[in-house]
Amino acid sequence: MLSDLKNLLDLQVADREITRLKEEIAALPKRVAAIEEQLAGTKAVLERAKTAVKADDAAKRKYESAIQDLRQKVSKYRDQMLDVKTNEQYKALQHELNFAEKDISANEDKILELMINAETREKEVKAAEADLKTETAEIEKEKTEARQKTVEDEKLLAEWNAKRDSYRSGIGGDLLRHYDRVVKLRRTGLSEVRDHKCMACQVMLRPQTYNDVRAGEQVVVCDSCQRILYFDPSTEAPTAPPS
Ligand SMILES: [Zn+2]
Repeated sequence: MLSDLKNLLDLQVADREITRLKEEIAALPKRVAAIEEQLAGTKAVLERAKTAVKADDAAKRKYESAIQDLRQKVSKYRDQMLDVKTNEQYKALQHELNFAEKDISANEDKILELMINAETREKEVKAAEADLKTETAEIEKEKTEARQKTVEDEKLLAEWNAKRDSYRSGIGGDLLRHYDRVVKLRRTGLSEVRDHKCMACQVMLRPQTYNDVRAGEQVVVCDSCQRILYFDPSTEAPTAPPS
């Protein structure tokens, strides 16, 4: 095989690896950002759960203080009932007393409801705290891994870039320009020839073109897609044994 062609094949491998490494390096911070976003979500859940507990506590204190006030009223009404002169006055006080007692009972119901809710609220806070702990540990691990992977990838990238430069310096100027142009246009600049076809664009080659590619003594370009053609004997279909 021509050394130009051999270098082009190596260059193609290097270009692919460089693209892969660059993509991987770019993807790592995104992965970390995604987990950080999840972590922020869990923090918000925990904050909401804690706020709900605080709000319930405040409400409970409000109901308790209302009950205290109402009990004082009840006691006051009872004292006043001892001193009433008329039946109307007695009835009016009785009415106020009943009303206050109903109010006490309603406030007590609300406190009970809050106490039942408190169990659920507590579970929510505990669950969110546990999630936060797990996710915090996970993100630290992911960050460390991402940092290590980035260092490794950067090292490999530098190595591949050096290889790429050396392959490029071993290829003739015109051919290299042609390769770069086709890569820019079609993402790949080389195509294997198999069964008389350009494997990249699937167009059949003329017999002379096919023979030239097989001989490997000159650079041949696909008429249809302009990729530089090469022949790999190891992928050739085995010929039938002579009978
Ligand atoms: Zn082609």
